Amino acid sequence: MDWTNRKESFLNLPTPLEYLETISKEQGVHFYIKRDDVTNLGFGGNKLRKLEYILKDARNQNATMIITRGAVQTNHGRLTAVAAAKYGMKCAIVCIGEYPGELSANLLLDRILGAEVIIKKPNGRPIEEQYKELIKQVCSRYEEQGERVYYTPMGGSDEVGSLGYYECAKEIAAQTKGKEFENARLFCSVGSVGTYMGLYCGLQEVENSLHLTGVAIMPFDEEKDKEVGALYKRVKTLLGKETGDLPEFHIEKGYVRGGYNQPSREVREAVYYMARKEGIFLDPCYTGKCFAGILEMIREGKIKNGETIIFLHTGGGPGLFTRHHREAFEEELMAGVHLLEEDGEF
Ligand SMILES: *Cc1c(COP(=O)(O)O)cnc(C)c1O
Repeated sequence: MDWTNRKESFLNLPTPLEYLETISKEQGVHFYIKRDDVTNLGFGGNKLRKLEYILKDARNQNATMIITRGAVQTNHGRLTAVAAAKYGMKCAIVCIGEYPGELSANLLLDRILGAEVIIKKPNGRPIEEQYKELIKQVCSRYEEQGERVYYTPMGGSDEVGSLGYYECAKEIAAQTKGKEFENARLFCSVGSVGTYMGLYCGLQEVENSLHLTGVAIMPFDEEKDKEVGALYKRVKTLLGKETGDLPEFHIEKGYVRGGYNQPSREVREAVYYMARKEGIFLDPCYTGKCFAGILEMIREGKIKNGETIIFLHTGGGPGLFTRHHREAFEEELMAGVHLLEEDGEF
C-alpha cells in the first residue's frame, strides 16, 4: 500500500541529516543530527510529520475542528494549531494545569494562530479522569456550536500519528546507506511514544543495521510500558501486519532528571554545549534532555568510542522561552550581559 495516500503533504521532506564535526571530535564518536526541528511550518518539530497523517484522517471525516490535549506549553498543541490554520479548521487545546502567569512561548503562539486554549486547575482526582471529563465537555460544547470535532490524543501519538515516524524511518534508512552508517545508533527522546514507535515499526521493514534507542524524558513506570506495547499492536494492525510476540523495546529510563519539563542544570549545560559548538538550539524539555543523556552515555561507555550516532532533533525551541526555564537560564547567563550606565565604560 502507498502510505503517502494517507497524508496531506505539507512538509519539505526529507529533512537534512548533518554531520557535527566539533562535537564528533570532542566526544570521540561520529555524531550526526537529523534535523526534524527545521520542518517548514510553525517553528518546526516532530509533531508536524504526525500531523500530515492526522490532518488527512480529520479531513476524510469531514471535521471542521481539531481538538487535542497536552501540558500548557505543549509543542504538539502549537503544531496542531499550525496545521489546523493551514487547512481552514478550528483548533482547541485542552490542558489540566496551572496558567504560567504570562502568555509566552507555545501558549503565545497558540493564540497568535487563533487556537483556543482551555486550562483547568487540577482538582486532586486522578489526572486521566479529569482529562476525560474535560475533553468530553469541550468537544460537546463545540459540537453544539455546529463544529464537527476530530480529537487527536496527547502528542498525536495514536496509530495514525505514528505513521509520520514510520515514514521517517524509511527516510533515514535511505539517507544512511553508506558504509559509515553500518551499525549506527539512532537516538530519540520519548514522551508520548509515537515518534519512537513509528521509527521502530518503520525500521523493522527496511534492510538496515540501525539500532534505535529511546531516551525517556519523564518517569517511565509499568503502566507506561503497557502503553508502549499497546501502541505497538495498534500501529502494526493499522499497517496490516502480524503483531507476534511483543519485541524488547530499548528505552533508556535513567536520564529523566527530575521529571517532565523540570529545569535541570545538566540539561541546560547540554543546551549551551550544542549551541556554542554547532549553533543549533535544543529545547529544555525533550531534546536538551536527550542530548544530555547521550553525553552521559558516552562518559559511561554505553556509547563506545568511534560509534556512529544519529540524534533525532525533534524541535521544541519555543520551550526555551517559557517562564520557569527562562528564570533558570537567567541565573546562569546574566553574568555575560554587561549593563553600563550612560557614562559607564566597558
Ligand atoms: C512531543 C515531543 C517529543 C516526543 O515525541 P513523542 O512522540 O511524544 O514521544 C520530542 N521532542 C519534542 C520537541 C516534542 O515536542
